[in-house]
Amino acid sequence: SAPVFTRALAFGDRVALVDQHGQHTYKDLYRRSLCLSREICRLRECASRDLREERISFMCSNDVSYVVAQWASWMSGGVAVPLYRKHPQADLEYFIQDSRSSLILAGQEYVELLGPVVRKLGVPLLPLPSAVYDGAAEEPRDGEVPERDWRDRGAMIIYTSGTTGRPKGVLSTHDNIRAVVTGLVHKWAWSKDDVILHVLPLHHVHGVVNKLLCPLWVGATCVMLPEFNAQLVWEKFLSSETPRINVFMAVPTIYSKMMDYYDKHFTQPHVQDFVRAVCEEKIRLMVSGSAALPLPVLEKWKNITGHTLLERYGMTEIGMALSNPLTPAARLPGSVGTPLPGVEVRIVTENTQKDSCPYVLHVEGNEKDTRVTPGFKEKEGELLVRGPSVFREYWDKPEETKKAFTSDGWFKTDAAPCRCFRPTAGAKGGDTAMFKDGCYWIRGRTSVDIIKSGGYKVSALEVERLLLAHPSIQDVAVIGVPDVTWGQRVTAVVALQEGHSLSHRELKEWARGVLAPYAVPSELLLVEEIPRNQMGKINKKDLLRQFYPHDQG
Ligand code: ATP
Ligand code: MG
Repeated sequence: SAPVFTRALAFGDRVALVDQHGQHTYKDLYRRSLCLSREICRLRECASRDLREERISFMCSNDVSYVVAQWASWMSGGVAVPLYRKHPQADLEYFIQDSRSSLILAGQEYVELLGPVVRKLGVPLLPLPSAVYDGAAEEPRDGEVPERDWRDRGAMIIYTSGTTGRPKGVLSTHDNIRAVVTGLVHKWAWSKDDVILHVLPLHHVHGVVNKLLCPLWVGATCVMLPEFNAQLVWEKFLSSETPRINVFMAVPTIYSKMMDYYDKHFTQPHVQDFVRAVCEEKIRLMVSGSAALPLPVLEKWKNITGHTLLERYGMTEIGMALSNPLTPAARLPGSVGTPLPGVEVRIVTENTQKDSCPYVLHVEGNEKDTRVTPGFKEKEGELLVRGPSVFREYWDKPEETKKAFTSDGWFKTDAAPCRCFRPTAGAKGGDTAMFKDGCYWIRGRTSVDIIKSGGYKVSALEVERLLLAHPSIQDVAVIGVPDVTWGQRVTAVVALQEGHSLSHRELKEWARGVLAPYAVPSELLLVEEIPRNQMGKINKKDLLRQFYPHDQG
């Protein structure tokens, strides 16, 4: 049950990472991490060289320093807590305090930024030595990474996106991470010849596990940009320089932004042909996740690049759980596929909470291996997940952790605790899903995306998907507004395409052609831009509060 870094030495001189500082081999990463881990243990005065799950917060750019800080924290026996440079000071304080970090590692460019926080909290700060970036450190000596039992050992605390309330500290073990990594490596056929282009923040599972630890697990190469930039990504796709990108993963808004760039700059037919030819020939896999992938985005991306985006579903607490198949023709647009290897998923409704009730269950990663218990009818309900990728605990919240699981170990996505983090009233982070056509479909967050109007249940994600096909709509968030008559009314918050206009009457007329009558928005609110976070997620509680400050239900 060894952590990711223990595999690195076997890959030796292969290039692990390409970043703004140059190329770094697996050996480089390993040795520099080992050096830093010794320094950490010295600072913490830890003679046994095992920090026993002490939390180490670190702030690094998207480059080699991130990997070295993470691995060094692990080698010293600690739990890595990644901090994000764009988080406000108050959030940084919250993460450091909540995790009770005993040390902060700072990339050279962040020593100043972290100064005030460090002084206020009195936590020691270790600026990363320059050898982390380019050092040819000495060979590791035998026994320098103490043999230890990695089983069930905490590896990292990732704070959730905070879409439904205050971010929750999710502690995953090395075993959890390995389960996600090996599941994805198998399902998406990762090999050492793969080269992924990394453009996501490194404080969420998507960026840390899917895009970084998967390639490092198999000896592949990760090309890292400091942050997402549509022009640079296109350049990397199209450039013939080596290593040549063949895998890409992003959140839906990134694909939208790349298409905006395409529309503005790749207007000539021969350029468009070139783009399509290169993407089809050189790239083997493009994945979308972290938020629902709108169908118009999927369709347009396919027209431009020839690629049907592979949509998958995951959550900080469970890692990755569901994925469409690797074979493009077998992917079902709008669905998130079937469980990844080793993951068990089931759906329960208010009436079928008891374990004896019928449900759909996948046991193995095998797509055909769907067991439907007798009496099951296709229906939607709360998603439950079980398996080795499911996290160990909400950090330091034993009561909340306990409440999040059934007695037989299923994680209730809808039980995610919020009260202790001062969120909005009744905020819950769980998802409603549906099993249909042999696949799972995410209907949205139970608390904000499942709108109950006049006795009908409306999936906001579904309505958004359909409305996005309207030629004047650039982006849309559908929310349920408390309503005396209907319980909730379906409201569309819309950002229009440049130069377009849209009245509520026009929208209603158009929507009647594609939506059931009860799902047609009974209200239209126009905005400049739909506020989305880094991961492309909308905080609908905030949106509701913005328009209806006194009407929170
Ligand atoms: P918080 O729990 O603090 O409110 P969060 O749930 O947004 O934040 P994450 O753990 O990063 O934080 O995100 C997991 C959520 O992202 C899932 O519960 C789900 O709602 C959403 N999600 C992920 N992938 C998909 C997808 N393919 N389709 C729809 N939703 C998705
Ligand atoms: Mg959540």
